[in-house]
Amino acid sequence: MLNCQHHVQWVRQVAGGLHQCILCFQAVTKKDVSPKFEDLPDDFRRRWEAHEATREVAPKAPPAAPPASPGSGG
Ligand SMILES: [Zn+2]
Repeated sequence: MLNCQHHVQWVRQVAGGLHQCILCFQAVTKKDVSPKFEDLPDDFRRRWEAHEATREVAPKAPPAAPPASPGSGG
């Protein structure tokens, strides 16, 4: 396991609403970065969350089940 702090200066936005550390190439989240996400400027956090919001959301309901085929006999 790499001992990388994922400093915010090394973290960049990547496709899919994700963030990636350019040093270790790991996908990082708010809680992975250094310094703490809470300690970062509002402007930075706003951009982070705005990008994160572009993540593709999974469909709420699964596709409709196919109609039951008529069975014969029993
Ligand atoms: Zn890193």
